[in-house]
Amino acid sequence: QTLFIPKEADASEPRVGGSAETVKKLISLGFSVIVESGAGVLSRIPDREFESAGASIGKAADAKSADIVLKVRRPSSTELKSYKKGAVVIAMLDPYGNETAIKELADAGVTAFTMEFMPRITRAQVMDVLSSQANLAGYQAVVDAAEEYDRALPMMMTAAGTVPAAKVFIMGVGVAGLQAIATARRLGAVVTATDVRPAVKEQVASLGAKFLAVEDEEFKAAETAGGYAKEMSKEYQAKQAALVAEHIAKQDIIITTALIPGRPAPRLVTREMYSRMRPGSVIIDLAVERGGNVEGAVAGKIVEVDGVKIVGHLNVAGRIAATASQLYAKNLVAFVETLVDKEAKVIKVNFDDELVKATVLTHDGKVVHPAFAGGAA
Ligand code: NAD
Repeated sequence: QTLFIPKEADASEPRVGGSAETVKKLISLGFSVIVESGAGVLSRIPDREFESAGASIGKAADAKSADIVLKVRRPSSTELKSYKKGAVVIAMLDPYGNETAIKELADAGVTAFTMEFMPRITRAQVMDVLSSQANLAGYQAVVDAAEEYDRALPMMMTAAGTVPAAKVFIMGVGVAGLQAIATARRLGAVVTATDVRPAVKEQVASLGAKFLAVEDEEFKAAETAGGYAKEMSKEYQAKQAALVAEHIAKQDIIITTALIPGRPAPRLVTREMYSRMRPGSVIIDLAVERGGNVEGAVAGKIVEVDGVKIVGHLNVAGRIAATASQLYAKNLVAFVETLVDKEAKVIKVNFDDELVKATVLTHDGKVVHPAFAGGAA
């Protein structure tokens, strides 16, 4: 059985769905692996590295022989034309708001799995792409902030005088936020953080940062069974905004990461708030691709408003592509392993497995995921 790892067609995507390590693993599972020439270049994996791991180097058209295609992003209509009916496609398909594209996957007859829907259970931790990529985005956000900030982050006591430590405020303390706290602390900043989930408070403290939030009854109840944030009431948002507005005026760097699954990102920072920050302050909006947490943030750009730099980099995990691909590829291969009958060395998808049920979007010409079936145009 053949497994294909293409070069991402989208030029803004430097990541790749394989590494030398995962190619070896895939071969041991019984696959012949074809990697499209140049697929790993932007992740610093040259063709020869894939080759010495046992893959053959091919071209885009080799997709037609593949039983499994491992991708980063959703295949385009053009790419889909070369996939064979019944092929398994595994990627981050970004289905919300893209129902027409999901229907196209169904029409192409592929069995498509979206890695973002992997349940957050112990067994699937090694397949959790949201975590592996968000962790790196949180790290990179601090590195980007340090780069844009024209001052030092740590306190420095020198013969020429003392430089105070930068104050960094992290808004949204999921996987990305936690890593941002840890990274900013390593660089010597004074770090505070906020979130709507009460469970976060202790985690923030354990990383040596201070927690800031309106801790009323709604806050105490604000967490879904899956551990995700709920959308908060207008009243709560107003109270929280008043509290953070005072805090923001005294910060040098803000990193926002707040997301609610399947909903637009909540607006947390208004221009009125950041216009009180001192000139040269930096805001990194990690939620910019999902509508943004920060007023005035522009996807893909750095803009300066009232002397404050607002950074809206896209695909922040992709800015650290070599590491991001290494971990993403591991996430994929762990999932592929669950789709293979290890003795017979053939693909055998168990549609009763909870990992499959949660992630399969299309099968046998139909959109099958309950969140999209029937609703797709
Ligand atoms: P996410 O990317 O969905 O959201 C980022 C953060 O934004 C979350 O902490 C969320 O609470 C916060 N947020 C949402 N609205 C906000 C608002 N108005 N103001 C402030 N903050 C707001 O989150 P994530 O990184 O995917 O993590 C979600 C949870 O899942 C966390 O508890 C995480 O530890 C947990 N998790 C569990 C597993 C596992 O058990 N296998 C794996 C990964 C993550």
